[in-house]
Amino acid sequence: MSMPKPLSLEQSSINQLRTEPVKKQGHLVDGNRVAASNDALMEVISPIDGQVITHIANGTASDMDQAIANARTAFDDGRWSRMPPASRKSVLYRLADLIEAEALALSVLGVRDNGTEINMAFKAEAGSAAGTFRYYAEAIDKMYGQVAPTADSVLGLIHHEPVGVVGAIVPWNFPLMIGAWKLAPALAVGNSVVLKPPETASLSLLRLGELALEAGLPPGVLNIITGEGAVVGQALGLSPLVDALVFTGSGATGRRLLTYAAESNLKRVFLELGGKSPNVVFADAPDLEKAAKVSAAAIFRNSGQVCIAGSRLLVEASIHDDFVDALCRATEAFRVGDPLELATDIGAINNANQLAMNLQSVRNAEAEGAKTRLGGQQLHESSGGYYMAPTVVTDVRPHHALARQEVFGPVLAVTAFNSEDEAIQLANDSELGLAAGVWTSNLSRAHQMVRNIHAGVVHVNTYGGAENSVPLGGVQQSGNGHDKSLHAIGKYTNLKTAWIQL
Ligand code: NAD
Repeated sequence: MSMPKPLSLEQSSINQLRTEPVKKQGHLVDGNRVAASNDALMEVISPIDGQVITHIANGTASDMDQAIANARTAFDDGRWSRMPPASRKSVLYRLADLIEAEALALSVLGVRDNGTEINMAFKAEAGSAAGTFRYYAEAIDKMYGQVAPTADSVLGLIHHEPVGVVGAIVPWNFPLMIGAWKLAPALAVGNSVVLKPPETASLSLLRLGELALEAGLPPGVLNIITGEGAVVGQALGLSPLVDALVFTGSGATGRRLLTYAAESNLKRVFLELGGKSPNVVFADAPDLEKAAKVSAAAIFRNSGQVCIAGSRLLVEASIHDDFVDALCRATEAFRVGDPLELATDIGAINNANQLAMNLQSVRNAEAEGAKTRLGGQQLHESSGGYYMAPTVVTDVRPHHALARQEVFGPVLAVTAFNSEDEAIQLANDSELGLAAGVWTSNLSRAHQMVRNIHAGVVHVNTYGGAENSVPLGGVQQSGNGHDKSLHAIGKYTNLKTAWIQL
């Protein structure tokens, strides 16, 4: 059993990898890389400079059906599902080691594809994925069934069984991290998986699939089909051979997945959706300078393309102006630019469409009467890439679209409040409920806020960075089910009762 090695980053090594040619990428089916059945391809456009890096298979519904059939066979014949837990554990440990050994190349490949700043991607993508595979590998042989309390004349045993074939659909903001959150627990308990990567960030996940084979995962247990959500994602959602769908992405797609399940085999559907997360700063915060810096990072790192981003800043009126000044100073210190430069704090927007939507959200807020205090414009247009200035919008009213709809970009909505009750009311004035932050040195107030805010996670005097040991998931329209921690395992197992007359 190996120990995690410290990861480190050097600009010269990044530079060697940044222009490496990337060959055309097929699907991963039954252990083989294969082209789409009609040979169709999609361009992979780098958000760094708008250039085409390579092409990936643009899958068809029949490609997806074939991958699902392979996953089904692999599950039913027990090549992985009935492998001894200790053997499954060694495979996932080896996979974690391989990810770590290739962490830099994987991260650079991922950044060329999705635009996240490398210093974040290195930790949050490759580093985090390795840690997640280790976490669930470690759990594999420590999970027990149960003996139920029953009358003496019977024995009630509760077994935890893998569900069978899991369909996993992930978004482009952190494909490796979020992919690992689904794959690691699903595989740990013996399921087969068909993974549908995001159109605009498939490359690192395809490489992860190859590393899984190298680690000893039997062919057919993990299949990866690339292409359009509305084509291959839909086929995965509608398949009668898929037992559970696990998804991270937008609410609109989440709704479709529920419909697919209803129209097909009532497969379980677990949704991790978006947020419009309130970050509440009280005048009695222990360190307002620090609160301002962390609050700026909480919305602007990875250009706001973070599901839990603190995108609604609620500030107590008595400190509003000073706090917004401090937050703007912290924001102006961020360097926006080439995500493969180590000095960059904020990289690129993933795709041109998302950039246009981000800019439009600011124009809409201005039209509704809010004020752009900082940013609001595209940057580095001549590079051909997609960059946007971190944007602070003040005077946002609760009914404004910017207070209600997720932007998924570097746009912060600021609103003042006058009392704790008003802060709670504003924080909860949302259909979403993924995350929140509270800054106060009053312990009682902190606990009251944790209790009263509708969210899956409430940070106190910090924002983000939670470890694998705690669950992440939303309430209300931010979804159901949780990634991370041992709680996630329930999504990938069925309970079976053995009721034995003695
Ligand atoms: P998206 O819903 O457009 O796409 C997500 C995935 O769904 C992609 O792989 C896409 O190909 C697939 N898809 C699209 N249409 C489909 C269909 N009809 N059937 C099946 N699959 C389909 O979301 P996105 O733009 O990639 O990601 C951004 C969203 O993800 C944001 O709302 C963000 O908040 C959310 N997100 C949530 C979390 C979380 O943990 N809750 C984490 C990261 C991102």
